[in-house]
Amino acid sequence: MQQNSWDVIIVGGGSAGLSAALMLGRSRRRVLVVDARRPRNRFAGHMHGVIGRDHTSPLDLLADARVELARYDGVEVREGAVAAASVDRDDDATGDGPRLLVELDDGTRHAARRLLVASGVQDVLPDIAGLAEQWGRGAFLCPYCDGWEHRDRRIGVLATGAGSMHQAQLMRQLSAHVRVFAEGAQLTAADRAGLLARDIPLEQRRVVAILADADGRLTGVRLDDGDELDVDALFVAPEQVPDDGLLRALGAVRAPHPMGGEFTAVDPMGRTSVPGVWAAGNVTDPRSSVPFAMAAGNAAGAAINADLVAAEVAAAVAATAAGTRRSATAPV
Ligand SMILES: Cc1cc2nc3c(=O)[nH]c(=O)nc-3n(C[C@H](O)[C@H](O)[C@H](O)COP(=O)(O)OP(=O)(O)OC[C@H]3O[C@@H](n4cnc5c(N)ncnc54)[C@H](O)[C@@H]3O)c2cc1C
Repeated sequence: MQQNSWDVIIVGGGSAGLSAALMLGRSRRRVLVVDARRPRNRFAGHMHGVIGRDHTSPLDLLADARVELARYDGVEVREGAVAAASVDRDDDATGDGPRLLVELDDGTRHAARRLLVASGVQDVLPDIAGLAEQWGRGAFLCPYCDGWEHRDRRIGVLATGAGSMHQAQLMRQLSAHVRVFAEGAQLTAADRAGLLARDIPLEQRRVVAILADADGRLTGVRLDDGDELDVDALFVAPEQVPDDGLLRALGAVRAPHPMGGEFTAVDPMGRTSVPGVWAAGNVTDPRSSVPFAMAAGNAAGAAINADLVAAEVAAAVAATAAGTRRSATAPV
């Protein structure tokens, strides 16, 4: 027995999930957003590259979005986690599509006509002492998000993968003092030529610790021979692991992403291979920006509403043909 029935359940209330909820709330849909409140950028004091909100707290953006959503009486944003999701295939005969069943970590069970997964990614950092404490503070992912604040400073780039050369060259646009820590990285001849030509030194000794002052501000790195180098900010490309356990359990098809890794395959509006299931934001796409996630959520919200409208039109046409249609009263 299901306790609650919704038009749409959204897993994740970050930029993608809340944008979708806004579109659906404005379409008079009954929407449950379940959010574990661990957005990817929660470590950052300020976010950048987001017009109208540059250099503001990313958590304030989401708090403001939740206040805006309170205007729409069909939308409920609940703190918690979705523990499981499944398709109720027995309920496929209605013409509305299969019902999606969801169980929350508080044990409550919910059913919905459509499901949107906007659960983001986990950043897995290299195992270096002191690095996790600096994430979002002195160690960063994205030159567009945090580069300008460190222009002309001493920048270190920890080469962890293909994205690291891109980070180094983007940061060279902002500072003449960029150094790449390359131990263990597979650099191509073109990578090396590009670094040499732009006066970016390569450090082959391994970074074993990130150093900070008494206030916790990043000051440098310690190398495996004990030597210490001064650095004002570090750029690191972590492994980005999509939080897609629910999508995997539902059997959503995955595909290699051009930026590396495998992500759930979606069409341009966020539709997955599983009927009734959409996905948006970082969980489908490692490109790390709030505007991208907002746009994906906005598109998915509109597409889900259009899909529901199409099902409702088909049901009304069938009922009209059968002579069983009750006259609709348009909501005023
Ligand atoms: C350190 C750092 C700094 C950044 N700075 C910037 C910046 O300045 N500008 C910028 O544009 N981008 C920035 N980004 C990128 C930005 O964080 C992401 O683009 C954005 O958060 C993606 O939004 P999303 O909604 O897809 O995922 P998220 O914001 O990560 O939201 C996903 C939500 O889903 C929840 N969730 C996950 N699983 C479940 C579940 N089973 N049940 C319920 N809820 C669940 C999570 O707790 C989370 O609240 C930064 C990233 C990092 C790591």
